[in-house]
Amino acid sequence: MTRTWRGTRLADLAAERGLDEAYRHEIRVVASVLPFKVDRYVVDELIDWSAVPDDPIFRLTFPARGMLPDDVYEPVSKLIRDGAGEREVRAAVTDLRRRLNPHPSGQADNVPLLNGDPVGGLQHKYRHTVLVFPSPGQTCHSYCGYCFRWAQFVGEPGLRFASSRPEDMVTYLRRHPEVTDVLLTGGDPLVMSTPVLRRWIDPLLDIGHVSTIRIGTKALAYAPSRVTDDPTLLHLVERCVRAGRQVAVMMHVSHARELATDSARRAIALLRGAGATLRAQAPIIRHVNDDPAAWADMWQAMVSLGIAPYYSFVERDTGAMAWFEVPLARALAVHTEAQRRVGGLARTARGPVMSATPGKIVIDGETTVGGERVFVLRMLQARDPALTGRVFFAHHSADATWIDGLRPAFAPHWPWETTGGSE
Ligand SMILES: *Cc1c(COP(=O)(O)O)cnc(C)c1O
Ligand code: SF4
Repeated sequence: MTRTWRGTRLADLAAERGLDEAYRHEIRVVASVLPFKVDRYVVDELIDWSAVPDDPIFRLTFPARGMLPDDVYEPVSKLIRDGAGEREVRAAVTDLRRRLNPHPSGQADNVPLLNGDPVGGLQHKYRHTVLVFPSPGQTCHSYCGYCFRWAQFVGEPGLRFASSRPEDMVTYLRRHPEVTDVLLTGGDPLVMSTPVLRRWIDPLLDIGHVSTIRIGTKALAYAPSRVTDDPTLLHLVERCVRAGRQVAVMMHVSHARELATDSARRAIALLRGAGATLRAQAPIIRHVNDDPAAWADMWQAMVSLGIAPYYSFVERDTGAMAWFEVPLARALAVHTEAQRRVGGLARTARGPVMSATPGKIVIDGETTVGGERVFVLRMLQARDPALTGRVFFAHHSADATWIDGLRPAFAPHWPWETTGGSE
């Protein structure tokens, strides 16, 4: 029995589920360019097939025509209709992918140096937190259509940054006593078996200043059996906690339905029982959760399961963005209206947040100052620590979807452009 469908094989699954040939062609085209992978758990337990194609989890994980601009879709569609071979399609696609901004927001700029050489697989942008991308963890149990890490999944050389050497991470961390948090991310670190995960986690327990080990994961949504069926993972968490570390599981949760299955609930309870703290975050995504009720339900479900809502994000400018993007004004309305519908414990998510080149920018609200309609923005995290907490303004826009579509208000420049930290 197939466990996982990848790429154009999703067309077979669509056929099994009675979806028509026109849509199967769209799958073949879109999945030739962007990465897709859907696990049986998602197919059997999360997607409501009676609501397809508008089902949010189907939208989250399956290809759609609108994910590609015409100048990418059409040439690939023609090749496939003309019966081009796999190799020919692959060659054409390699070039076309460059039009989809594979590395948004200067992620490649955050790679730190050790003795003058870049340390592969690390990002150190904010003083206290180092991101680690273990190379065996650069995939996920299923893929989200909007993933801004998509370039890492298509396996193109030069579009990956991953660490295969935990020793380099350790050497770097020993020289950076200001780092309190290490965030293992990917992909999904929980695709690694526990013995492999331990190669990155065990050495952290010898570095006194790393007090928090964060694990960024979507496994609780996409593969809760990863947690429920592996007691050694729970033992690892317990060992970290006994060693005085915080184990913070940073869950990626896109929809309340992901928290509703028995196995997800069991996995969450087991991690909490082992001493981990759980937080959850996700982008506000059109076709999936761009609706205050979706967020209010999700936050409520989190709180009832002992998960703290952490961030709501604005979708990054990459990959299938045009299909999934939500204007900043709409993201703000969704976040604010959802907050109004829940109590204080469910209102702990900050957002909507843009993780942009100069830092994490939250849109705190909109208001009118001296007759001018503006967004009130604030730096939650900044590459230049002196800017953290800075409040600033932008002219209101109904359709801008990212900071680069806004104009500063009451100031000639953005804060990061006036402090020498401009990029
Ligand atoms: C969001 C983020 C972090 C973590 O920020 P917190 O606000 O501490 O959760 C660290 N590094 C990068 C590059 C980030 O984008
Ligand atoms: S779980 Fe995260 S890294 Fe994996 S596909 Fe989804 S957004 Fe991307």
